[in-house]
Amino acid sequence: MNADRVLVAGAGPVGLVAALHLAQHEVPVTVLEAEPALPETLRASTFHPPTLDMLAPTGVLEAFLAMGFKAPTVQYRERAGCIAEFDFGQIADVTAHPYRLQCEQFKLNRLLYEKLADLPGAEVLFSSEVTGVEEAAASVTAVVAQGRATRRFRGRFLVGADGARSNVRKSLDIPFDGFTWPERFLVVSTPFPFEDHFAGLAPVSYFADPEEWFFLLRVPGLWRVMFPTRPEESDASVLSDASVERRLQRVLPAGQPYPVRHRTLYPVHQRVAGRYRRGRAFLAGDAAHINNPLGGMGMNGGIHDGYNLAHRLVRVWREEAPASELDGYDRQRRPIALEYANVHSTSNKLNLEARDPERQQQFRRAMRETAADPKKSYEYLLRISMIASLRTAARL
Ligand SMILES: Cc1cc2nc3c(=O)[nH]c(=O)nc-3n(C[C@H](O)[C@H](O)[C@H](O)COP(=O)(O)OP(=O)(O)OC[C@H]3O[C@@H](n4cnc5c(N)ncnc54)[C@H](O)[C@@H]3O)c2cc1C
Repeated sequence: MNADRVLVAGAGPVGLVAALHLAQHEVPVTVLEAEPALPETLRASTFHPPTLDMLAPTGVLEAFLAMGFKAPTVQYRERAGCIAEFDFGQIADVTAHPYRLQCEQFKLNRLLYEKLADLPGAEVLFSSEVTGVEEAAASVTAVVAQGRATRRFRGRFLVGADGARSNVRKSLDIPFDGFTWPERFLVVSTPFPFEDHFAGLAPVSYFADPEEWFFLLRVPGLWRVMFPTRPEESDASVLSDASVERRLQRVLPAGQPYPVRHRTLYPVHQRVAGRYRRGRAFLAGDAAHINNPLGGMGMNGGIHDGYNLAHRLVRVWREEAPASELDGYDRQRRPIALEYANVHSTSNKLNLEARDPERQQQFRRAMRETAADPKKSYEYLLRISMIASLRTAARL
């Protein structure tokens, strides 16, 4: 393919959203993916209303909605019952999709990839790991390992959407400041029908608990249960049948063993790249920011990055905007990761795990008051759906 193109490192949701937007606007694009096929690991599964709005023009949304589970409400609970419930129907005036869609992210990736593969001017190369970036005045080159061979791919711009361990970020020498939480998070999937046992349970429910908080997310046919783990527990112990069973029985004593379909243990970080751009290379998604999953802001924020950046690249490519258009990407998106996703995901975690009785009461009182006041709950829904973050970004 011609060297005048946009290179995208990584065929995750962020790289694929950016690549599809570019290709659908006739910008030639080459996606370089390290793995031999699209990864199908179970990771994020919550898609917020504005993310669904952004996906609509790509033509994949209808099929994706059919694969997922629509969650019209979200709840904060304690073991004694519901503390507060919020209904996304309240923000139907500002989104065409007033619900969260619960669906595994790899299913979206598959749809994006199929759409992209049909477009002229787009290619996805598997088993192609970007190992370095070489910058020049008028181009940028990705150094790519393909098996034992090393090839160089030249493009006009490079989008580094190669995940949290981003080689693009390292190669550009951009720091990834922040910290790693001492505890890892465990996700377990089970077909057990929690909805039949907790009265009025919402498909997305966060349970505050001083001993061990958890949250329940419903995807088609399964509930995903997310737990923190103690730092001193070994991986093998956390993932053992006995320990998974013990944790599930604490959620709800089922009187029988839980059927378990899947389990993953992963470290959780709060980190943001020192900058999102160096010359012709950009960082997006997990390559640029990572945060804990409470609130589902990581992947959604990443897709918002991919969309924002691709939109700008299209305008510059078509000479509809000057090159300075690209400066707006870092200016709009980086503060959102720092001041929104980082701050809110951290406070979500601290509220759910609070042990201090006063802090627990404060959180519960604030949630009840917010849910009871239509104006406050409207603002709250704008915040948790990430519409507020997009509005803030648009003003920067
Ligand atoms: C185990 C796990 C569980 C998670 N669970 C949740 C959750 O429950 N809720 C939530 O909100 N978020 C969760 N996340 C985070 C969420 O999955 C990410 O925010 C999201 O995947 C980011 O998308 P991305 O496209 O930026 O990166 P990724 O999805 O990581 O995609 C990056 C892609 O780049 C490829 N790649 C990597 N290095 C290179 C390279 N050098 N060259 C070329 N290709 C490369 C990878 O193979 C991958 O396909 C989880 C993450 C993990 C790891």
